[in-house]
Amino acid sequence: MKCIFTVDVEDWFHILDLPSTPGVADWNTLESHVEKNFNRLLEIFDKYNVHVTCFFLGWVAEKFPHLVSEAQNKGHEIASHGYAHELVYSQTEQEFFDDAVRVKEILENITGNEITGYRSSGFSVTEETPWFFDKLIAAGYRYDSSVFPANRGHGGLQTDKKAPHVVERKHGKLLEFPITVKDVFGKPVCFFGGGYLRFFPYPVIKRMAGKVLQEERPVIFYIHPREIDTQHPRLPMNIKRRFKSYVNISTTESKINRILEDFEFTTFAGYFRDKSADFGLV
Ligand SMILES: [Zn+2]
Repeated sequence: MKCIFTVDVEDWFHILDLPSTPGVADWNTLESHVEKNFNRLLEIFDKYNVHVTCFFLGWVAEKFPHLVSEAQNKGHEIASHGYAHELVYSQTEQEFFDDAVRVKEILENITGNEITGYRSSGFSVTEETPWFFDKLIAAGYRYDSSVFPANRGHGGLQTDKKAPHVVERKHGKLLEFPITVKDVFGKPVCFFGGGYLRFFPYPVIKRMAGKVLQEERPVIFYIHPREIDTQHPRLPMNIKRRFKSYVNISTTESKINRILEDFEFTTFAGYFRDKSADFGLV
């Protein structure tokens, strides 16, 4: 069993759901750091010869299409992170569908390839968005990695399905890759991305990843380009959110290096290719 390393390609001002989070109309006026940080990540991935899955925000892909092309040329997988980083549960069904179609087209125009993967902003699929998978299937996606099977600030979905699994709906099916959690004292805990990866010491992350692999599940790691940038501007926020958003940010790059050194990797597309017959998807 291999791991899957993923990047949600967005900027420092795309932190969700704060009174200070700027609206999309203001994004062009802000000093962007995503180009520098994403290029640095590509260098790190090159160093370990690892291919990753890049979930591009549509807005970032439109503004920096060369980042999509560079990632594609290096053999990384390109997938969709929605256009303007809106929470799924704050959109209507139609708004969500239009957004998913729009980003698929933007990325397909840049890459010349079919875009099959999706990840929602903030893993914001919840019990309140029962139409989520229907709309993704209708938009033409074949896999998703939006379910966070534990409690969290922006959603989280209570489910026993912790491993990749097929979601069957009336008009089709897709493969869901829930964000990896490991039960600790009977409660699911994530160790493998965002604030969780920054918070936990690397030996704990490594041990927990090993336990997940022993359970025959791939470990899905996720990071954001801003998390290797200790100098990026900070959005004003309360002390709790500040802790979650910026804790141990100086440790992220070394953790990424150690993860890439210590584990073996595939992409979602690679996993899909190897396992689609097992899942009845061919
Ligand atoms: Zn995001």
